[in-house]
Amino acid sequence: MADHPRFGPAGIPPIFRIIGAQSFDVPRLLREEGLDAFEYQAVRWSQKPQMKREDAERLGAEAQKNDVLVSMHGSYYVNLSGKKDVVEASKRRLVACATAAQWMGAYVVVFHMGFYGRFEKSYAFKNCVAALKDIAETLNSLGIRNVKLGPETMGRVYQVGTLDEILTICEEVEQTQLVIDWSHMHARRQGRFRKVEDFRAVVEEVERRLGTEAARNMHCHFSKIEYTDKGERRHRVLDEAGYGPDFGMLAEVIAEFKMHPVIICETPLLDVDAMKMRDTYRKNMEK
Ligand SMILES: [Zn+2]
Repeated sequence: MADHPRFGPAGIPPIFRIIGAQSFDVPRLLREEGLDAFEYQAVRWSQKPQMKREDAERLGAEAQKNDVLVSMHGSYYVNLSGKKDVVEASKRRLVACATAAQWMGAYVVVFHMGFYGRFEKSYAFKNCVAALKDIAETLNSLGIRNVKLGPETMGRVYQVGTLDEILTICEEVEQTQLVIDWSHMHARRQGRFRKVEDFRAVVEEVERRLGTEAARNMHCHFSKIEYTDKGERRHRVLDEAGYGPDFGMLAEVIAEFKMHPVIICETPLLDVDAMKMRDTYRKNMEK
C-alpha cells in the first residue's frame, strides 16, 4: 500500500529494454526517472512461476532499495466462471502468480476474472466469487499472506468486472485489493468520464461501500482508450486529443480526497506517460 500517490509503468519500458535492462535493473532506472511503482507483467504465465525465485527476490530487494512499490499483473489465462477444468487451471495459475509475487514483494496480483459466457450474469459472477474464496484459502494455507488478490474493472461488456461486481467481491472475499481500471470503465460505458464529477462519483461510491481507507488506497490502471459499442478497443497515449479519459480530472479528485493510490500507466508509452501523470498530479497539488 502506498503512503502517497505513486506512479509507474505496466511492464518494462521499451527504452529500458533497448539498453539491455533485466527486471532487477528496473527499480533503479525508474527511480532515476522519479517514478516509484512498477507492475511486473506475469501475463503469459501458466501453472508454475515462470521466473526463478532468486531473480524475483533480487527484483524485490532492488525495489526496496530504490523505494519502488511492486505489483504484479497476473496471467491473462484465467476464467473463474468457465467449465470446471478451466476454473481449476485458472486457480492454479493465480496461485503460481501469487507465489512469485510473494518472492518479489509485490503487494497485489491484479487479474481479470473471466467471462459471462453462456451463463446468466449473476450466475457467472457467483462462480467467480466461489473460486476466489477457494484461492484466498489456498494462499492462506501456503502462508502467502502479504499478497492481495486484485480483480480489475474490465473494459468489455462480456467480461465479468463491472464496478459493482468488483466492489461486491471486495466486500465478500478476504485478502482482496480494489483495482480500478479507469479506462476500462470509460470504454465499457461509452465514455463515462467527461467531468470531474464523474470521477468523484466513483470515489464516493467506493467510500460508501468499502470505507475511506479502501478509497484512498485503490490500485489504479490509467491510459487513454479507444472503444466500440462492445467496449475497449485499444489503449492510447495521453497526448492523443481525440480520446479520454482525462487524467487531469482524476488528479483533481485524488487531491480532493487526499488519496494515495498506486497509478499504473498502461499507455503504449508506459514510463513517459507515467511521468506526465505524476507531473499533472503535482501541478494540481500546487493549486
Ligand atoms: Zn488488466
